[in-house]
Amino acid sequence: LPVETVSRTRKAVGEDFLIIYRISVLDLVPDGSTWDEVAKLARKIETAGASVLNSGIGWHESRVPTIATCVPRMGFAWATKRLRDAVTIPVVATNRINSPDVAEQVLSDGYADLVSMARPFLADPEFVNKSASGNQKTIAPCIACNQACLDHTFEDKIATCIVNPRACNETEFRMAPADAPKSTAVVGAGPAGLAAAIALAERGHAVRLYEQNGRVGGQLNMAARVPGKEEFGGLVDWFEVMLGEREVEVVLNHRPGADELEDFDEVVVATGVLPRKPGIRGQDGATVLTYSDVFLDKRPVGKNAVIVGGGGIAVDMAEFLVRKGDRSGESIPRWLSEWGVTDPASQAGGLMPNGPSPEAPLTNVTLLQRSTGAPGRKLGRTTRWIHRMSLKMRDVRVVGGVEFERIDGDGVHATGPDGNARLFRADTVVLCTGQQPTRSLADQLEEAEVSSHLIGGALSASGINVKLAIEQGIGLASRL
Ligand code: SF4
Repeated sequence: LPVETVSRTRKAVGEDFLIIYRISVLDLVPDGSTWDEVAKLARKIETAGASVLNSGIGWHESRVPTIATCVPRMGFAWATKRLRDAVTIPVVATNRINSPDVAEQVLSDGYADLVSMARPFLADPEFVNKSASGNQKTIAPCIACNQACLDHTFEDKIATCIVNPRACNETEFRMAPADAPKSTAVVGAGPAGLAAAIALAERGHAVRLYEQNGRVGGQLNMAARVPGKEEFGGLVDWFEVMLGEREVEVVLNHRPGADELEDFDEVVVATGVLPRKPGIRGQDGATVLTYSDVFLDKRPVGKNAVIVGGGGIAVDMAEFLVRKGDRSGESIPRWLSEWGVTDPASQAGGLMPNGPSPEAPLTNVTLLQRSTGAPGRKLGRTTRWIHRMSLKMRDVRVVGGVEFERIDGDGVHATGPDGNARLFRADTVVLCTGQQPTRSLADQLEEAEVSSHLIGGALSASGINVKLAIEQGIGLASRL
């Protein structure tokens, strides 16, 4: 069928028309194509008249991540290299190529003749122009999260980008130069404050950005510590570059009071969130930590940990504890072995017969949640299965339907789903039980009758995430 399709298409369009054929070089499903079959089909497609072969990596049914954040950059270029060796027409590499540097490496190392990408152009439509003019550091990075592109598509929403909510919403977020530039203070340099400060400066306002910590980024810095989410660190780097480009005045290690802010024309409060405690007896005990204590390495975690909570932060925490310090995302061979991927020349479909080979967990983790469903239900449809599989691969025990009674030095006392009282033993209990707005500055400003704009987690902690925070920051900046 494919050979007939290509040869008849060639006949119909003539010799001067470009035909790009996307061939599955790595099926990543059991009993998938052998390499001999892939190479044979590729050569027949070439003979039938295709001009270029593009690389398909993994069928939708595959249980190996192929484009998500946890996949190392250019993690599948080796499969395209194999295809390149089998044919004489140009081949295209795909999947997790998100910067000009990575694209250049794919080409210069001989993996492919061309590189294709899609999501990076949502993150920054000026990708090619900036690259061509040597301005790569200002390219907004696609962090491969899928949260506003593919996840939106599956939810019947407009596909856009977490990093660049203006994508496909250009008429909604208009960044026209301000009629009358104003002096503006933005307090808090998490994603909401950063997005607001940079967009306000882009419109011509004079912006001073305050951050109480020694580095901008807020909770993005915590996300960047989760193995497989290192791309979030690159996003913070980009925000730092853009603060410089837009000449935003950044004041670190300082949280201003209302008296310092009263002379600004506009004040934006983006002071973020704090961990919320669930109200379980013993939650302030010596062995109980919040998620920020752990992500920021404020206190050590024992060998046996119980996580209380079942949302996205709890899932990230489990990943962090079982793989703490593990940078396997940076090693392609190790990542492939962890997910059970091998050369299709040795195994049909490119899957190891024994399945994934994850490293042993560095912490024994039990995740306890009140609800009975799977953890991370609110994570995006295209990636939550990956998180769940990853936790399963590393023996994270998940117990749902739990009624908490108290926490003490032995662990968590609770009623299990069977109705029986249980002790879930732990050296350390980590609370991942939601967040609450940090509003003290907003309250001070209100008392001092200084008007301000609240955005991000400081406005509402319910359902706040990076996508919403950046969207609110840019939305506000477009209106001021
Ligand atoms: Fe990339 Fe995430 Fe933006 Fe999609 S939403 S284009 S994956 S950064």
